[in-house]
Amino acid sequence: MSPMAGDLVVERPQGLYCPPGDFYIDPWRPVARAVITHAHADHARAGHGQVLASAISEGLLRSRLGAGLNFQGLAYGETVTHKGVAISLHPAGHVLGSAQVRLAHGGRVWVASGDYFLSAHDEHNPTCAPFEPVRCHCFITESTFGLPVYRWAPQASVLAEINAWWRSNAAAGRPSLLMAYSLGKAQRLLAGVDASIGPIVVHGAMAPLNQAYRDAGVPLPPTHTLDALAGTTAARRAAAHAAPALPALAGALVLAPPAVQGSAWARRLGEFSDAFASGWMQLRGARRRQGVDRGFVLSDHADWPGLQRAIRATGAERVIVTHGEEAVMVRWLREQGLDAGSFRTEFGHEDGPPAATAPSAPPEPPAPPAPAADLPDHPARANPNPDPGRR
Ligand SMILES: [Zn+2]
Ligand SMILES: [Zn+2]
Repeated sequence: MSPMAGDLVVERPQGLYCPPGDFYIDPWRPVARAVITHAHADHARAGHGQVLASAISEGLLRSRLGAGLNFQGLAYGETVTHKGVAISLHPAGHVLGSAQVRLAHGGRVWVASGDYFLSAHDEHNPTCAPFEPVRCHCFITESTFGLPVYRWAPQASVLAEINAWWRSNAAAGRPSLLMAYSLGKAQRLLAGVDASIGPIVVHGAMAPLNQAYRDAGVPLPPTHTLDALAGTTAARRAAAHAAPALPALAGALVLAPPAVQGSAWARRLGEFSDAFASGWMQLRGARRRQGVDRGFVLSDHADWPGLQRAIRATGAERVIVTHGEEAVMVRWLREQGLDAGSFRTEFGHEDGPPAATAPSAPPEPPAPPAPAADLPDHPARANPNPDPGRR
């Protein structure tokens, strides 16, 4: 969108830029000063001189960007002033530490949302602080699921479906492989499933992220590594000269990133039932292409009603759409009489299904430290719509 005089955020090749404050928000190229909304790879990139983010996101950002990060943490609602721009961070409800960035300068207030979660139901992501609407003149919104087809069921009913699937697999002596994005989704599933059904195994790529949540005070049920569980049963089997059944693993819920599909790691589970948990599972085409037994619709992003609720609650007269379904959202906003446009960004969909081509499984990292490398579970930027056939 072409800038107007006095805009508090404009687009630049490096990312979203605040001219009076001389800093960037979630820049995709290295810059001197960055404000980072949350730890997802498309928003939190390495190489910046200084990083300002929510204090509670520090563990996640350091685990992904390196311990040497030049980090300044802010409590939600706390204000720092930089070159006359008052900066504060407010909960986005998306993942641990996720924040909307409020900028106030010269009597005007802008809010950049990063990614956020809100739905038609009065519920929030239990693993982070709930989305807080912030009044502003201009709201910069994501639009990942900005189509009317996206309407989330209450999360309790989705979790009940997942529990029922896990329970029936356990009764049939099969492990339940639930694939989900490692940061945010995995912890939300852990916090929400019924841990009394059986043991929970997590892929090694998820373990350090789970630890960052636990360190931040988010209660998660106990989890095991595949090695520990398989080792235990192997030892037991050797001792008993029993048939090669894996009693512990048989009733387990196994959480892993989508890239394990078809991998040697997954084959270690023997015969299993698999499922994928993502907002994209709302679309039949995405479910089919995923080739899993079940698809559970669970997202850390706002659905269509949630986006509309959030935008209205800001009272903003101007709205700029960053990533997702920009065109549809801009048209809807204009129909509401708002001044609407979009920014071209390089934010992706951390929640997307893996590409249709055979994904390469991420190597399971040695426990700890975790590598800063991200798992290849972003679909290609060139094909942001997971289901073009439905358009
Ligand atoms: Zn995100
Ligand atoms: Zn995003």
